[in-house]
Order: sequence, then structure tokens, then C-alpha cells
Amino acid sequence: MVAKIKVATAWLDACAGCHMSFLDLDEVLIDLANVIELTATPITDIKEFLPVDVGIIEGAVGNAHDEEVAKNLRANCKILMVWGDCACFGGIVSMRNLFSTEEVLQRYYNTESTKDGKIPCSEDIPPLTTVKPINQVVKVDCYVPGCPPSPEAIHYALTELLEGRIPVLPSEIMRFD
Ligand code: SF4
Repeated sequence: MVAKIKVATAWLDACAGCHMSFLDLDEVLIDLANVIELTATPITDIKEFLPVDVGIIEGAVGNAHDEEVAKNLRANCKILMVWGDCACFGGIVSMRNLFSTEEVLQRYYNTESTKDGKIPCSEDIPPLTTVKPINQVVKVDCYVPGCPPSPEAIHYALTELLEGRIPVLPSEIMRFD
């Protein structure tokens, strides 16, 4: 029996839409499950990264914890793929770079519809940093842009990797929403 390709994924500063697009592959996931093994990922809720063939990141780096996760996954994978505009370019998350951290937190927690809103403060909450795409923190081997990338684009990229090729997405399967 041929060993399955081990895949781990991370969800950083993002909306989870890219992972949802992966799950939108529906019955194709059953075929994929015959050739890949999902290890640490929000889907399995396993959080410790062990060495894998392919690491995948959704979302940008927006705080020190995100940066730690990106570096940890990079150190534990042979090929790192990024899903979605947030991970590829900073995306919609990077809009907060236009404002100070104080302005952003006030907008999160003290809005027109909030009564006595307070900004949470705990050493367990990593402070926000400037939003960065993944390739400003670690080396990225392949990109699947889109917001979110279509399930077809994600499937194409995974299939190319399974065939031993670094995927270069044809323009007709990229989505620019
Ligand atoms: S690229 Fe779009 S769908 Fe993916 S995490 Fe960012 S905002 Fe969400």
C-alpha cells in the first residue's frame, strides 16, 4: 500500500473561508482521503505540528502567535502552500494596517452598538502587529490566490503536488471576487 502524503494546515489571521472552500470539494474529499492524511489542522483540531510533506496556511500574520505558527509549520513541512489572498498578499486583513492598533481595537470593541465596551487585556492575548503576507515571514513554495480560492483551484493545486509538480494555477480556475 502506497503511503499517504501527510498534510498539515494552519488558520492564521483570516475568516476560515479558505478552509471552507476546501471542504466545499464535497465528495472529492473522499477520493483525496485515499491519498492524503490530514494531521494537524483546524479540521482535525490537532494542534501540534509534526513533520509532514505539505504544509498549508490560510490567513495573514497579524500577531506574534501567528508568526510563531507560520515558522513552526514551515520548519515541519517540505513544501509550504498558501491559500487565499490574505496569506498570499495580506488581503482584506491588511486593511487594518491603514490605522493605528489603538484605533483598530477601539473599532473592534467600542462601537456604536456597544455599551461600555472594553478592550480585553490579558497576557494570553498576543498583541496585534502589522499584518504581513506569509512570504514576509517564511519561504513560500506555492500560492493559491483568491478570496476564497475556488474548490477547483484548491483541488488543482493539491493534485499537482500529488503528481510531484509545484502548482502554477491556470488563470481560468482563479477567482477574483
Ligand atoms: S482570502 Fe478571503 S476567504 Fe480566505 S481567509 Fe482571507 S478573507 Fe477569508
